[in-house]
Amino acid sequence: MRYPDLQLYIAGAWRQGTDTLPVLNPADESVIGELAVASRLDLDDALAAAAEGHKTWSRTAPANRAAIILKAAALMRQRVEEIAYAITLEHGKPLAQARLEVQRGCEFFEWDAAEALRAYGRVIPSGPDIRYTVLHQPIGPVAAFSPWNFPMSQPSRKIAGALAAGCSIILKAAEETPAGAIHIARAFHDAGLPPGVFNLVFGVPADISGHLIPEPPIRLVAFTGSTAVGKHLTEIAARNMKPVLMELGGHAPVIVCDDVDPVAAAEVSVMRKARNAGQVCTSPTRFFVDEKLYGAFVKTFAERAKAIRLGNGMAPDTQMGPVANHRRKSALHALVCDARAKGARLLAGGEVPDGPGYFFPLTVLADLPDDARAMREEPFGPLALINPVRSLDDAIEKANCLPFGLAAYAFTHSASNVHQLSERIEAGNLSINTLEASVAETPFGGVKESGYGREGGAEGLHHYMTVKNVSHRMTI
Ligand code: NAD
Repeated sequence: MRYPDLQLYIAGAWRQGTDTLPVLNPADESVIGELAVASRLDLDDALAAAAEGHKTWSRTAPANRAAIILKAAALMRQRVEEIAYAITLEHGKPLAQARLEVQRGCEFFEWDAAEALRAYGRVIPSGPDIRYTVLHQPIGPVAAFSPWNFPMSQPSRKIAGALAAGCSIILKAAEETPAGAIHIARAFHDAGLPPGVFNLVFGVPADISGHLIPEPPIRLVAFTGSTAVGKHLTEIAARNMKPVLMELGGHAPVIVCDDVDPVAAAEVSVMRKARNAGQVCTSPTRFFVDEKLYGAFVKTFAERAKAIRLGNGMAPDTQMGPVANHRRKSALHALVCDARAKGARLLAGGEVPDGPGYFFPLTVLADLPDDARAMREEPFGPLALINPVRSLDDAIEKANCLPFGLAAYAFTHSASNVHQLSERIEAGNLSINTLEASVAETPFGGVKESGYGREGGAEGLHHYMTVKNVSHRMTI
């Protein structure tokens, strides 16, 4: 198994940039590769290629587009071991989770490929001598930016939506975890995607977004990452009157109602919190537990969290790998220190192990005051915050009190509780008795500062398409 060459992919060909950036293994901080960095010239070539590629691809029949996307997905499924190995090496997550990520990325491609065949317009009822036809057409070349937490499935969402809708795309994937996107480019190259339809670049993020977004060929900006960067890119797009698809931060509440088994709810929650070392925008984070169940829930949660095996993602018994970079490790440590100084109880983890690697244990804090920073700032790591609530009303109020609204969860068997939650929770995704926020066939996205637009589901291609009305009178 080998880590891939980290080159740019522009106009259907691989190329070296003008400079390189080292890519590190977060488990031991060793250098595992040198990533090509795009120059201004490379970016201009990518823009020209995307403009040309769009002409070809937007006029390719949806069934032919779908066939190429499905062929690329099939190649990625065949290469799952090689891709998962590269993801674990550069990101740190356990190999089993990396394999699941590759499968999930393939599901996004497969779902959107099928949606390409169903991007219907409509005919509006009208008088006998005129016909109004509404067409859904590819919006144009997309500038997309994907983050480091899911090196393969995050880029998949954006590439799948753009290509299925008939758009070309320039993707700037994350410099710290480039291999997932490189493997996607390889698969599309081998599947026969025409040159220029998918272009992959890396470099200094602000330089690339600052250059690409205002350029005339770009018609849509798609970003997944922090709310702060999302706002910045939205401002650049707005100055150039370009629409955006923004999938931003979250701080997911989990409401544990008084009618469930607290031990079962805690066990499920710990496993989900450990997934991807908590570096998931939908990670369950603020637990609001009915006061009658609080003691049992907290006890089980802390016990199970302590038992999670932290280690190198390549080791078969590892349940949680390191966090992906030094920034997360220090940010998490600062949040834990702040919460403890303000009176929160530390029930598990919290101490940063010695030695190389960005390891941070699954950490459980209980009884946090409202002014603890962790209760307001997205921890984006393996940090669980547990507080008691008096009632469902109390829980919903606390769940909704932040400017975020991406994922929310609840454990309950009461239809009445589910109705209340469905009506009142401010989030793009609410999951009951499961901590899975979205699958390929459901629309995913946020409200409030968690962004706008949806990826996946029947809504997934909407942002990548524009609506044209054709009024056709039969005689002049
Ligand atoms: P960050 O906000 O600097 O970077 C997040 C991502 O955005 C990275 O992939 C980065 O390359 C990209 N980025 C940053 N500035 C950019 C710019 N000007 N133009 C284009 N792309 C740009 O922060 P970080 O330290 O890498 O991550 C920390 C925070 O990011 C987390 O706290 C979390 O809120 C957020 N994040 C969210 C997701 C998600 O799935 N929504 C994923 C990763 C990170």
